[in-house]
Amino acid sequence: MSSVESLSDRVIETDVLVVGSEGAGSTAVLEAITQGVSVTVVTKGSNIGRSGATVTGDADLDVDSRSLHERFGLKGTDTRDNQAVFFDDMLKGGKYLNNQKLVEIHVEAAPDRLQDLVDWGVKIDGLLHASGHSYPRGVVIPGTKLMPVLRRTVLSTDVNLVPYTMITELLTNRGRVVGAVGINGATGEFMVFKAKAVILCTGGAMRMYPYTTAPEELTGDGSAMAFRAGAELVDMEFPMFLPGVFPWPPAVKGVDIPFLLSTGGFVAGWMLNKNGDRFMRHWDPINLEWTTRDICSVAMMTEILADRGGPHGGVYVSLKHLPDDVIDHLEDWMPPEFYMHYGGFNMREYLPDLKRESIESVPASHFFNGGIRINEQCATSLPGLFAAGEVTGGVHGANRLSGNAFTEMVVWGHRSGRFAAEYAKQSPDVSIDGEQLREMRGKTFAPLERKNGVSQAQIRKKMQQVAWEKAGVLRDGDGLEQALAEFVRIREEELPQVSVRSKDRVFNREWARTLELENMLLIMEMVCRTSIKRTESRGALYRRDYPDTDNINWLKNQIVSNRNGEISVRSEPIVVTRAEPPRKVLKYGKTE
Ligand SMILES: Cc1cc2nc3c(=O)[nH]c(=O)nc-3n(C[C@H](O)[C@H](O)[C@H](O)COP(=O)(O)OP(=O)(O)OC[C@H]3O[C@@H](n4cnc5c(N)ncnc54)[C@H](O)[C@@H]3O)c2cc1C
Repeated sequence: MSSVESLSDRVIETDVLVVGSEGAGSTAVLEAITQGVSVTVVTKGSNIGRSGATVTGDADLDVDSRSLHERFGLKGTDTRDNQAVFFDDMLKGGKYLNNQKLVEIHVEAAPDRLQDLVDWGVKIDGLLHASGHSYPRGVVIPGTKLMPVLRRTVLSTDVNLVPYTMITELLTNRGRVVGAVGINGATGEFMVFKAKAVILCTGGAMRMYPYTTAPEELTGDGSAMAFRAGAELVDMEFPMFLPGVFPWPPAVKGVDIPFLLSTGGFVAGWMLNKNGDRFMRHWDPINLEWTTRDICSVAMMTEILADRGGPHGGVYVSLKHLPDDVIDHLEDWMPPEFYMHYGGFNMREYLPDLKRESIESVPASHFFNGGIRINEQCATSLPGLFAAGEVTGGVHGANRLSGNAFTEMVVWGHRSGRFAAEYAKQSPDVSIDGEQLREMRGKTFAPLERKNGVSQAQIRKKMQQVAWEKAGVLRDGDGLEQALAEFVRIREEELPQVSVRSKDRVFNREWARTLELENMLLIMEMVCRTSIKRTESRGALYRRDYPDTDNINWLKNQIVSNRNGEISVRSEPIVVTRAEPPRKVLKYGKTE
């Protein structure tokens, strides 16, 4: 028996391994399969459409309005829009840190990828005009309607789907990726995947924060394992916050109805502090609540920390300025997914009478603008490793526009499938380094084998609190240094002590959560280190000690790389193809 077989419970060989099964992962699978290679897709979920952010996605997928008019005949489009205007809006929204080569591909490919979805059977429910977009571009396709179609389409191919499985590390040999290892929750097996190309489609890292809109699988695993294997990351100082979730009651904490009733633009709700001040006038007097989501989150958090919020820790969202019959009509025209059945809740039971009372709202971790650095072919800096969707950085710069993550996942999912398949076809057979595999196996099982130790739940809670208070929506140098010191201390002192109480390997959530904890701590450390270096405020990073946007010194991307296990940060000039940003210092939120 070879060392690989003796060290693993199951070995799967494939040309292309896709990690993550949702918007990016499914579209990667479908394109790779058409290229004639064998494909295996692994997911933490029980099936496709049962984990990750895509299925929770509210609504929109951005395509320029002109293409929507010409190719899809959608109502409500504006033909003054085109791909060049969409490109400019993305750069203004991303405060010019976006990689312009990627943005060009993104806006050009969006109509074709929407066409794929329609051809597979996805229905378009309407069109939105969200904040930050010059024209209506938000094609309404809720995740709950998208994912059943993708599931059906993917499962009609001969893909090998491996559910309930958490990939923990990437395997490398002679400077390239040759597969991955993970644990299968349903069987408890330690699994080895041998692959000529790996595509990471593992989504974001939002669970690092206590307030989040995202499901529990999103713990930054892809970015963390890519870093450990030697791939570069970009723009890690820009975790994004959504301005508007319920802080309370616990049953709906994190649900984003307050956002839909204000910045989301479904209804022109006002945001008020406890003194009744419509505070957005201090931040964006023209767009007010309908500003981009980065600015709105910063404004909300400023009120909350100045003790001008409500009893549950949020600011108020009020519809009282609207005539009663407009409020009555909410239920008529709002899609029932949003209002009546949101996340399985009938919101009517949780919403007060909106004609008389406001609701409380806090910002919440919602997305990660940065991530694994990719080129136009979705290749990372590590040969054999590709990435697509939210786990990557570069498309959105410092802040993503509404609806543009769905576009990202289908445009880049598709491309990653194509280029990873081409790479695999040209690749010779790969071999696994037995010594590396032994180490990875030992690391994976260590928390199970420790008899006594600390609980991951306590550490997770502590990490989230520090992240929220010192490395969240509002940051400053002192707080970031304190947070960094705490995360390093936890990583060095507490993490090696974590012990899992149940020693059963099957469906042991505590074990999986322990493995996720290391990833979240690593990503938080990257957030702190990159935020400390960026001495300005831009997009989703607001530093109270450096409140302006410094286009003289900081039109740069920060690149994170692995130097002997430690995080190294360097900066590089932004990638410009056609839009030159103004080279001057600007007030936060302004682009010119
Ligand atoms: C509540 C909510 C609403 C949103 N609404 C919108 C919207 O209306 N429009 C829009 O554009 N964007 C929206 N977004 C953002 C958007 O949904 C995501 O950015 C996008 O769906 C990400 O797709 P993805 O395929 O990259 O990742 P995900 O959909 O998050 O999928 C990640 C996959 O990776 C798997 N995975 C993770 N780690 C591992 C591991 N270690 N091993 C194996 N598998 C792993 C997960 O199980 C899952 O299958 C919303 C996000 C949230 C949270």
